[in-house]
Formats: sequence, C-alpha cells, structure tokens
Amino acid sequence: PPLYKQRYFFVKEIVNQYKPKKVADLGCGSATLLCFLKHHSCVQELVGVDLLMDSLLVWNRDRLSPLVADHIDPRDLDLRIVLYRGSAVEEDSRLLGFDLITCIELIEHLDSEDLAKFPEVVFGYFSPTLVVISTPNADYNPLFPDYNPLSPGSTFRRNPDHKFEWSREQFQHWALNVAKRYKYSVEFTGVGAPPPWANKDVGYCTQIGVFKKKQPGCRSCILVKPDARVSERGERPYEVVFKASF
Ligand code: SAM
Repeated sequence: PPLYKQRYFFVKEIVNQYKPKKVADLGCGSATLLCFLKHHSCVQELVGVDLLMDSLLVWNRDRLSPLVADHIDPRDLDLRIVLYRGSAVEEDSRLLGFDLITCIELIEHLDSEDLAKFPEVVFGYFSPTLVVISTPNADYNPLFPDYNPLSPGSTFRRNPDHKFEWSREQFQHWALNVAKRYKYSVEFTGVGAPPPWANKDVGYCTQIGVFKKKQPGCRSCILVKPDARVSERGERPYEVVFKASF
C-alpha cells in the first residue's frame, strides 16, 4: 500500500492494541485517518484538528456521517466525531482527557516558534496516555530519484512546506528530551521499509515515535474531573466545523 496508508494502518494497529476510547488527530488534513478509525468499536470519541479550514472541507463529509448501515446495525457503544479548526500549538480544554493523540506528518510543518510550543501543549497540557508522532526520515532521502547532494546550498525536502526534515538522530534526540521532560517513555519505529537495493542502513521512509505516559495517575487527576479544569482554565479557541453522532 502507499506510504500514507501504511501510516494509517500503523495507527489502526495501535488502536487495536491499546483500545483507546478517545482519540484525537492533530493536523488531520482531509480527516482520512478518522474515517479509518471510526470502524473500531472501542472508540467512542474521535476528534480531528487542523489549522486550515480549506483542507478540512476538501474531505467528503459523508464519509464521517452515519450511513444507512449504521442505523440498521447500530454500534454497541456510541461514537461522537468532531472536527475543529485550530492549531496544535494552542490549548483547548476540549482536548483534555484523551487516551491517544496522533500527529501524522505534522511537526515538520511547524516553524521553529510553533515547534517550541508544541511539546508543552500536547504533552504538558493535553497530556494523553499515548502520543504517536510521525515525520519524514531525512536519512532515507538519498534514495529519492531527484535527490541531488551536489546542488550547492540546497537542502532536499520532500515537500516545499516542510520547515525541516530530521535524520533519525535528530528526531530521536528531540523525542527523548520531550519524553523525559513530560514523563513519557518513547519507542522508535517507522513505515516504508527501504528497497532491497539500498546499500546502507537508511531506516524507514517515515519515522515514528510512540510515547506512553509513565504515571497515568499523576498529571491526569485533571482528567478524572475535567470540569474543574475547564472552569479553572477553560480555553476553547478551536472552532467546531463538523459534528456527527452514531
Ligand atoms: N495528518 C494528515 C495525513 O497524514 O494525511 C495530513 C498531513 S499534512 C502533510 C499536514 C497537515 O497539518 C495539513 O493539513 C496542515 O494544514 C496541518 N497543520 C499545519 N500546521 C498546523 C497546526 N499548527 N495545527 C494544526 N494543523 C496544522
């Protein structure tokens, strides 16, 4: 399957393994990952957040709305889907208390100022039990046919909107620091294995960090009583652009 689907399948595996009830996807784009996840019976709340209204509207609303089949054969547990226009580096109290937050090909689109805010918002404030972050692996880039190491001053980027592409070492250095600061463990993996003719170890095309909160009881006391937290710091800057209930 194409690489983007391999990333979604990776998240589906995580959902199968950990059975999260509340899942949020930051930088959800056309919300295709949410369409993949709505079929998991354990999931009761699915949230997508993206900065751009345009990219949210590109997706076909019908795919996230209940179908006739959903009425004929209803789910055992209710499912609520909400899409917000908002930024992954802005706190919104409706994102508190999640079991899983995914950021698939998001961080490389953040400028240095936003990248610096990102850990405090996602790990410090939203503080979900699990975080999955994927980003391009620059070590793999020499395998792209248009990669030109001799072009003076140029840095090869897979997409002109990428503010950076990190080597495995750079990503792991950043991720380990974040994990340490916010008391998570992190494991590294990826999708998109290199072709057999690659003659050195370049790693996966997409690198992935899976972060697990070390003491779910600790900072998440706020998760047990989200209302108290909401009234204390009830930021709600995100704008609802779509809602569906199953
Ligand atoms: N996650 C989707 C996927 O895998 O198909 C889309 C990935 S796309 C490469 C990156 C997305 O991040 C875009 O939809 C972009 O609008 C969004 N984005 C960029 N900066 C953001 C921010 N600060 N907060 C939320 N979304 C952001």
